[in-house]
Amino acid sequence: MDYLFETSVQYLKGVGPQLGARLENWGVHTLEDLIQNVPRTYQNWKRVENLKEISDGDSVVLLANLLNVKSYRRGYQRSFELVLEDGLGQKFLAQFFRQPFQGYFDRFRCPQKVWIIGKPQFIKSKIVFHHPDILDEVESVEQQNQLVPIYTETVGLNSRKLHQLVDQSFRLLDRPQVWKAKEFLPLSLREKYHLIPRQEALKLLHFPSIELIKDYEKRRTIGHRRLIFEDFFWMEFALVMKRRSYAQEKATAYKGTGLLREGLKKALPFQLTLDQVKAIQEISIDLNKMIPMNRLLQGDVGSGKTIVMFFALLQIIEAGAQAALMAPTAILCEQHFQNAKQLFEKLPVKIALLTSKTKAEEKKKILAELENGELNLLIGTHSLIEDQVQFLKLGLILIDEQHRFGVSQRHRLQSKGLAPHRLFITATPIPRTLAMTAYGDLDVCLLREKPPGRTPITSKIMVEKNRNLMMDFLMKQIQFGRQAYFVYPLVEESEKMDLKSATESFERMRTQYPSISWGLLHGKMKADEKEEIMKAFRKNQIQVLVSTTVIEVGVDVPNAVIMIIEHSERFGLSQLHQLRGRVGRGSLKSYCIFAAGLKMSQEAKQRLQLMCETEDGFRIAEADLQWRGAGEFLGAKQSGMIGFRWANLMLDEEILIEAREAVQEIFNKDPELKEKEHQTLKAYWQNLPWAHTS
Ligand code: ADP
Ligand code: MG
Repeated sequence: MDYLFETSVQYLKGVGPQLGARLENWGVHTLEDLIQNVPRTYQNWKRVENLKEISDGDSVVLLANLLNVKSYRRGYQRSFELVLEDGLGQKFLAQFFRQPFQGYFDRFRCPQKVWIIGKPQFIKSKIVFHHPDILDEVESVEQQNQLVPIYTETVGLNSRKLHQLVDQSFRLLDRPQVWKAKEFLPLSLREKYHLIPRQEALKLLHFPSIELIKDYEKRRTIGHRRLIFEDFFWMEFALVMKRRSYAQEKATAYKGTGLLREGLKKALPFQLTLDQVKAIQEISIDLNKMIPMNRLLQGDVGSGKTIVMFFALLQIIEAGAQAALMAPTAILCEQHFQNAKQLFEKLPVKIALLTSKTKAEEKKKILAELENGELNLLIGTHSLIEDQVQFLKLGLILIDEQHRFGVSQRHRLQSKGLAPHRLFITATPIPRTLAMTAYGDLDVCLLREKPPGRTPITSKIMVEKNRNLMMDFLMKQIQFGRQAYFVYPLVEESEKMDLKSATESFERMRTQYPSISWGLLHGKMKADEKEEIMKAFRKNQIQVLVSTTVIEVGVDVPNAVIMIIEHSERFGLSQLHQLRGRVGRGSLKSYCIFAAGLKMSQEAKQRLQLMCETEDGFRIAEADLQWRGAGEFLGAKQSGMIGFRWANLMLDEEILIEAREAVQEIFNKDPELKEKEHQTLKAYWQNLPWAHTS
């Protein structure tokens, strides 16, 4: 009975070759494709006779007289303005901007009776509907109040028309035996988790009932539940499959002698935190297994991840293999290199640094020593993934600030060894639900507590008129021997955006305050220039570093206690958090100042206030996720993993937990999916197009 679902949409009444082609382009070929496109939202329409009955914010259905259709051209597309009057002769407008499908408007014969369905706005003395639905057949709109499904308008189809096509499809498909053919969740599971058949669920979403209005608005009908569950179910299913494919790789187990790690412990100027100890242990156990470690080391800025990485790589080196540490910027690599050099000073460990600026001669030597196994640890940027970089025996790869790298870059580094162990490091605190999705195939260890002795950072919003006060404060701190950062969002002045550039401010402040030594750092400088500047800053030869956001990740200079962020209202929360994380890294009292422009939106202000209230990376990340959405939060490189059709990570966490549990139950009971009730499931999985990409 599958064939009914496969029926082409062209078969529907009202879909000619033209619309058919547009639907195809949109990815809708069959009736099934069509009915999976569920309403974006629902509105409670009030039926009114005239405009007197309504107030601002009402959604209404109104019978009106269409008097005139005007059109005007803007660029390639036309906009339309409809002049209408209500039952009492009151005139009003309906406006449609930039309409690619103009035929829609050419069909009207004025004057003509139409139903206008939408939300009017009261603009000055006028009443205007923006992009309302229009029903020109004067059919009956029976009920007084109706819950109307609202679809995202697309390919020239308005919401109403889309609903009509869906309605037709359901007339064809709406038979229980047909639904059954498309059900892949085993009955026992559906019963246990209270899930209705998927077809029924789709139907409920397309045909809402006014009695359940609250449930529809909150996406909490049994229909929603089933579909959201399904989204999460497949995601969890895919993660299990991914983990299995890892488990089939054969890695080398590295026990290590423990000698180097003992040496490192002795060289440490501090005691490890409990979280650090725990992470080091967990990683150590993983490295001693014959399946490759796939682990994420997660910890807020300044939580001390570097040292955990160092313990991991020493274990590998003790066992006679090599490690590679890749980080996104040359500054960060240099810092890791200096750190390692210092901490491993008395240990028989040979390390090298490879970045784009490594001189040809030196590079040649490094590559040779890497191939003959003399070199134990290579630290570097993307340079590490070049073809000429060959290890004798690569046992572990570490990727710092891993979200800065794409999947293929990580794979390329990984392919330089035979199933090496991998440790990914991130400072981005990821809300739990998102982590379960984006990193669900990884084991996670978390550094929750910060090293002891840190004093909280005092954060303040600074408005322009107080700039002098801020500068006085800065000068005082410098006199005490402290250092500071000044961060700007862009390198060069862009007139349009009215931003102060780092370069300009650097020049200005240097003249204004000549007693201080200023430094400038930005992304367009050459790598070795940048390095010189950072070195001088580390040595306190530069007291105030004016910089673009190149210092955002990883930089660690404990004596720098002031962070001033210019145009802070333009940064995202996570970025502000990262920037602020550059201070407060020792026991010295630290300050973060958010300088904000005059024209700050209410929302921007709220965001900065939140930053002043809390230093909790998780709380900030949650808020950021809500403000920006998951795709942007994770960055384009990773957002592909979270394209849910129905689920919403922020709202549906409970269902996610259940779906996860359900998938685990299935695999515990029937690891190979051999049982009869799992056959449809298995077949369905094998046909999912996205399931088998890396
Ligand atoms: P991040 O997690 O941001 O990479 P780092 O590893 O750079 O943080 O550590 C931040 C600072 O804290 C460094 O100066 C480091 O030496 C210090 N640090 C790390 N662990 C401890 C500890 N257990 N006690 C005291 N200081 C520590
Ligand atoms: Mg770090």
